[in-house]
Amino acid sequence: MIIQLNQDISTSQKEALMDKVNRMGYKVTEVKTQVGDYLIGIGKSAFDIRKIGVLEGIQDIHIVSDEYKLVSKKWKVKPTRIDLGEGIGIEDGDMAIITGPCSIESEEQIAKVIAHMKENQITMMRGGVFKPRSSPYAFRGLGMDGLKLWYQQAKAAGIKIVTEVMQVSQIEEMHDYVDVFQVGARNTQNFNLLDELGKVDKAVMIKRGISGTIEELLQSAEYVFSGGNEKLILCERGIRTYEKASRNTLDLNAVPILKSKSHLPVIVDPSHGIGIREFVPQMALAGVMAGADGIIYESHENPDKAYSDGQQTLNFDQSALLADQIRKTFDLRKTFDLL
Ligand code: PEP
Ligand code: MN
Repeated sequence: MIIQLNQDISTSQKEALMDKVNRMGYKVTEVKTQVGDYLIGIGKSAFDIRKIGVLEGIQDIHIVSDEYKLVSKKWKVKPTRIDLGEGIGIEDGDMAIITGPCSIESEEQIAKVIAHMKENQITMMRGGVFKPRSSPYAFRGLGMDGLKLWYQQAKAAGIKIVTEVMQVSQIEEMHDYVDVFQVGARNTQNFNLLDELGKVDKAVMIKRGISGTIEELLQSAEYVFSGGNEKLILCERGIRTYEKASRNTLDLNAVPILKSKSHLPVIVDPSHGIGIREFVPQMALAGVMAGADGIIYESHENPDKAYSDGQQTLNFDQSALLADQIRKTFDLRKTFDLL
């Protein structure tokens, strides 16, 4: 059960409400976000919704049978728009394009990617400065120095920054330089990190765990939401299966399923999803048709020289073509009567 409280609810009204819900056999947790104040009731006993509905201080009350509550579409039917400022956002009914290198490498590299993005009207840039690498000997990112160099150029160009935060201690130092905190697939169930991102007033994009289920992804988002942050984006990036011919198995089934279960925007990462450069465009366009609200893919001036993930990274010509095709495919999708 989700009880949406009035902004001006008094402490005594709130206590009376919590007491009542408790006595009905529900465990109550209060959640305060940038947007609202909620009581989440977890329990199984049947009750008459009207008995609570008449109490003071309530804006709305919803029965949500899903395990996750606040990210569920069962209480919030209207899709959530993630506003990144300056007219840039991620939302249902629009097609976000996010591109950039796997890793931020140098000032020159950043300048080249931004020039490419400007030429193609792309306003959100991805890139890692803290890189989770399977081998400890691989390039692990430029860290805060890289992020600051990136921020200077991105800010001047009106481009938003999407970058991975790997641990709690990085959140504060990264905060002012980031538009979207990315939670990587290896951290989807790092609940301490999710809790802390709940306290932040910045968007958070959560990638699906390497072997994570759709439900687990939604529960991870619930952690951040219930921690106080409603600015959430879900990302399908492929899961580990027995298949070895591709890096991961991009689960495009997850896109319409997530969209039907949650009000949060869903984006697709075909680069990590298939891991093979020449097939990234196909899977990106398939993601658009599957109902994604955005595509995030890796690009680099010279992918073969990229410090990481070059094998799945597009060059700028390929990226320009793909951005155009993503937009055209989205226009086509809009002519269909899909979800
Ligand atoms: C990345 O985006 O570069 C990355 C490491 O992604 P993932 O967490 O999905 O592997
Ligand atoms: Mn990568």
